[in-house]
Amino acid sequence: MPLTDDSLHRPTTTGAPSELRGTPVVPGVAYGPVIRPAPRPDLPTEHATVPDTAREAEAERFVTAAGAVAKRLRDRASAASGAASEVLLANAGLAEDRGWIGAATGRIRGGSDAVAAAIATTEQFATMFTRLGGLMAERVTDLRDIRDRVVAELSGHPEPGIELPDVPSVLLAEDLAPADTAGLDPTRIVGLATTLGGPTSHTAIIARQLGIPCVVATTGLDAVPAGTPVLLDGSTGEIRTDPDPNAANAAVATDRQERARAAAWTGPGATADGHPIAILANVQDGAGARAARQTPAEGVGLFRTELCFLDRDIEPSVADQAGIYAEVLTAYAGRKVVVRTLDAGSDKPLRFVTHPDEHNPALGVRGIRIGATAPGILGRQLDAVAEAAARTGQSPWVMAPMISTVAEAADFAAQVRARDLVPGVMVEVPAAALLADRILEHVEFLSIGTNDLGQYTMAADRMSPQLATLTDPWQPAVLALVARTADAGRAAGKPVGVCGEAAADPLLACVLTGLGVTSLSCAAAAVAAVGARLATVTLDRCRSAADAALAASDPAAAREAVARVLG
Ligand code: PEP
Ligand code: MG
Repeated sequence: MPLTDDSLHRPTTTGAPSELRGTPVVPGVAYGPVIRPAPRPDLPTEHATVPDTAREAEAERFVTAAGAVAKRLRDRASAASGAASEVLLANAGLAEDRGWIGAATGRIRGGSDAVAAAIATTEQFATMFTRLGGLMAERVTDLRDIRDRVVAELSGHPEPGIELPDVPSVLLAEDLAPADTAGLDPTRIVGLATTLGGPTSHTAIIARQLGIPCVVATTGLDAVPAGTPVLLDGSTGEIRTDPDPNAANAAVATDRQERARAAAWTGPGATADGHPIAILANVQDGAGARAARQTPAEGVGLFRTELCFLDRDIEPSVADQAGIYAEVLTAYAGRKVVVRTLDAGSDKPLRFVTHPDEHNPALGVRGIRIGATAPGILGRQLDAVAEAAARTGQSPWVMAPMISTVAEAADFAAQVRARDLVPGVMVEVPAAALLADRILEHVEFLSIGTNDLGQYTMAADRMSPQLATLTDPWQPAVLALVARTADAGRAAGKPVGVCGEAAADPLLACVLTGLGVTSLSCAAAAVAAVGARLATVTLDRCRSAADAALAASDPAAAREAVARVLG
């Protein structure tokens, strides 16, 4: 139902800018009144000492509250699917974490009340996680979210989070706890914008899965009061306050037509004039691969194996690994599957790999470099992939992350070929893009990881919300390296795909095609939109779009120029 002036309660927007801009992460247009998450509970700063005789009961009260929070998250996980369900389950696990519960009940037995123990223990763990950095540091938001839920439960307050609005609304927030994002109802929350977050943040990943148009790293959101009508464009990153209602409803209607076209697209990937571009899915386990199979994705372009083992204390055996890899191969029997070897370290530390204490882990021992601190781990993983291949009769391609020299590529390729598998490497480091021609003498394919290629080209942490403009995959410098890599592939007659988040942006997918990449691999939820958009443009148009993007000076100019070329 189109929104009319009357269905929007108009607050005073004096002082709110009429146009805000952030980093677009999930395409789509949304129009509706602004809502904001319910405030978090006030955390008391003064606490009474619990008398000796009441301490056991107080500890019990804490354990019951944490259990209730975990149960609610698990219930919501069963009602959700894919990444959303996984995030909710992971957070339920945090609420029940034995270390966290043990430390909190220890404090209570020392005289602390349950609320004080929840607050102090959370800060103790947050400091530890922050010191570990990377993915662990990211979990601090999750942990504080669990603390707020447990404190609300202990204090008899309603659970903090997002109330279901009566009319389709646009949610504006500083940042969202993953548990909040994962529980969003896309029929009521039609758009989402945050002040923090980046293109690869939890919020972006889940919003993409739920199909909610989303903009992150937006400045000025605080000045927009709840109830203000806004028009949000998840393709351009633009958020307009108080737009003309007719124009806004027309923009939503056009977007809906495009989404319908995407829903009707069944593949295989090709431009309007029949130039084939395989559209593949990024997955992290068998369940993800089976879910991707329900979309038109033609295969798996990136199987992030390290994500299968984030919760393991010891290295999984070859047989154990083979079983997991075989699940993905079975889901895509007879189709292309590209397995990436463990990309451990930096934002994805694995407990069974020794990660040195580094000042700058993104530039440290990660990806292929872990061979130095974890001898034999790559060989055992390749044995497991070979075993999975033998069990399923499949012939997977295998690629290494974070390759920066020709020698690394050659050494990896030899180990892969020795096991009758097809070797390739990721291009995530500018050095690999610059020497792509020489690397291609040793491997059968390249896959460009634009998330890291952006981070290393722009010298900007991909996790930093402040640097989201720099890590925008539309950066012309990054596109120039993609072009160089694709040229090398064309000259060698070998495939060059893109498997970073850039491939999930339908407009950018046309540019990448024009630059000469041969496949695009993205979140399963983005596959249809990418394929449908590509099917509307000819290869020549894609090439003109690529030229326009390369000639631009910044991401916004590149987007505008490409939108003009592609219409
Ligand atoms: C990338 O860097 O673009 C990529 C696909 O790898 P990851 O996001 O897992 O680092
Ligand atoms: Mg990467």
